[in-house]
Amino acid sequence: MLKTRMIWPKKVALVALYCLLSWLLRRRGLTVLTYHRVSRLPDLDDSLKVSANALDHQMRFLRDNYSVLSPTDVSNVIRSRGKFPAKSCLVTFDDGWKDNFDHAFPILKKYDIPALIFLSTGLIGTSRVFWHEQISEVLAQIPNGKKVGLLEGLAKRFSRPLIDRVVEVVLADDSRKGVLIHELVIALKRFDVEHNEALAAALRQTFEVNLRESDHAMLSWDEIAEMAQNGIHFGSHTVSHELLDRLSDDQAQNELVESKRCIEEKVGCPVEFLSYPNGNFTQKTIELAQGAGYVGAFTCVGGKNVDSLSPMNFGGFILGRVREPWIHPEVLGFVLCD
Ligand SMILES: [Zn+2]
Repeated sequence: MLKTRMIWPKKVALVALYCLLSWLLRRRGLTVLTYHRVSRLPDLDDSLKVSANALDHQMRFLRDNYSVLSPTDVSNVIRSRGKFPAKSCLVTFDDGWKDNFDHAFPILKKYDIPALIFLSTGLIGTSRVFWHEQISEVLAQIPNGKKVGLLEGLAKRFSRPLIDRVVEVVLADDSRKGVLIHELVIALKRFDVEHNEALAAALRQTFEVNLRESDHAMLSWDEIAEMAQNGIHFGSHTVSHELLDRLSDDQAQNELVESKRCIEEKVGCPVEFLSYPNGNFTQKTIELAQGAGYVGAFTCVGGKNVDSLSPMNFGGFILGRVREPWIHPEVLGFVLCD
């Protein structure tokens, strides 16, 4: 008897908690998921990669449990200053990786998910590799401590503290290397793309490492056209993937206008949405993007999708996103995947 009395309050508390969470989740409106790369096999070391198997589970979960909106649906809600339906979601992919075509597209077609892929147009249809992918691969390939003395020669060209960090990565054992590479890439984001591409080229040359280019391939315009004919939408992720808050107003405007124009010309559909590279923006970026004709822009900050329709929040312009859907509690079903 005593045992029953103790259990019931717990059950009531759990039911109340469940109801509260359900109510909170229902009123949250649009959940926007941010994917990047999709690999054939699980890659637990890379938080920006999801396996095709996990993506398949996640898309089925969304189809069965959410209202999956198209970018046009989202645009209509924003333009009409309406409300997003309860438990609605939008699926997005950043950058424009070829693996989106190879591994995600068949799954999106299978579950009829009208995803939105953001393209950095300067890399689409080229063999260019993002600087952070180059640096990560080169440093990962170098055996511990190998030829570390050669980095001395780079200290004159790049800053001493920066090269000291690279030395630290090269000397690290395998258990620490991944974390140090990740931290180095984050630190390098304060430099421009030109600087970081020069560093990547210098490291490749110094350590005589060849990139496995097929591992870093971007979409072609033919692949984009085929996806566009099959329910996939495209948005801008700028031309160069430079962080917009680091650019002059003229440079930022050029990135926003040129990428939009290029996609509209190649795909033949209006481009209404923008994803800020690395999620970085300023109030000026918002004004420039609105001036360029974007209806909405996506950050990497979660939890702003209901408020996005409030005039207090940039006139409904900013949409937060869930960056790592598979670990986010709101989509708990995903945790069981893969
Ligand atoms: Zn990006």
